[in-house]
Amino acid sequence: MIEFVSLKRQFDLYSSEYEEAALRTLRSGWYIMGKELETFETQFAQYLGVKYCVGLNSGLDALTLAVRALGIGSGDEVIVPANTYIASVLGITENGATPVFVEPDEYFCLDADKIESVITPRTKAILPVHLYGQPCDMRKICTIAEKHGLYIIEDCAQSHGARLDGKPTGTFGTIGCFSFYPTKPLGALGDSGAVVTNDPVLYDRLRKLRNYGSGTKYINELEGVNSRLDEVQAAMLQVGLKHLDYGNAYRRHIAERYLSEIRSPLIVLPKTRQGAEHVYHIFGVLAENRDALQKHMEECGVKTLIHYPIPPHLQECYARLGHKCGSFPISESYAKTELSLPVYVGMPEEDVDAVIKAANSFGV
Ligand SMILES: *Cc1c(COP(=O)(O)O)cnc(C)c1O
Repeated sequence: MIEFVSLKRQFDLYSSEYEEAALRTLRSGWYIMGKELETFETQFAQYLGVKYCVGLNSGLDALTLAVRALGIGSGDEVIVPANTYIASVLGITENGATPVFVEPDEYFCLDADKIESVITPRTKAILPVHLYGQPCDMRKICTIAEKHGLYIIEDCAQSHGARLDGKPTGTFGTIGCFSFYPTKPLGALGDSGAVVTNDPVLYDRLRKLRNYGSGTKYINELEGVNSRLDEVQAAMLQVGLKHLDYGNAYRRHIAERYLSEIRSPLIVLPKTRQGAEHVYHIFGVLAENRDALQKHMEECGVKTLIHYPIPPHLQECYARLGHKCGSFPISESYAKTELSLPVYVGMPEEDVDAVIKAANSFGV
């Protein structure tokens, strides 16, 4: 069986580096908020070319605390793509703010041309998601945000190292939010996340928010949370960051093979935006008869996944928002027709061959 992702294969590529970093940290006697975290934060900020990075517990915490740090809450609206993973929306509603959904463009990203029509006096921010690892149209989104005085909170949970016109995702907006869930382009060996920004005031607020709202021990200026990135994961992330560009190039190579060798007329291949460096966290194709394609791939020994089968506006937890089936037809159609093919670092070339062969034999 060809797995959708093999974390074991990814780990094995660098196992001695991971083991050495883990032992170094275990033997240090210091496990929370120490040198490993400081080093990783500095390295990641440098990699992206931003001033500040704050390590956190998860990508969801990055989104939640970004919204909170900007003072967005009850009565405020945040514009978010309707076809995203639920966490992008939870980061908004966790603060009592209202998500305003916008349909995606043909690249699966927030459609910049549909943003202005939903802006109201209550709109505070735009939350673009660089879904599947492809940058959104940040040129247009930044222009709109500037014109209307809105913050931009970028969800970069799938786009570490992806660039638009040479500029990394996470560096266009007010705050960039990252997840380091193990399967992400930059993954820890456990849960963690981070925010990045160039704003010293937001940096200070985010550092306090993650640690009970405290900058100085036992002095609490803000109502904070506990969302610290621990030393062992920070050490794992230093190893991961060193190999991030290689990993992105590896997945891009597989994606390029799929793009040039999958020729089934029943499969629609993903498109890349002009000027975008896609990192292919997910290689999503579209097929009218998606469920049959998934069954066919399974019969050929290829595991596939759907990202995502139910859009947030149709989830039970958001019934209170009052959206219905048909409210966002493009997102709903992607949910019915999208299928993700395996792409991961360390995926053997012969498995790539087998995926291509399986895809090309669909319906023949
Ligand atoms: C993974 C993911 C998140 C959440 O990250 P966690 O670290 O799992 O909390 C948020 N947004 C998107 C688009 C994601 O893919």
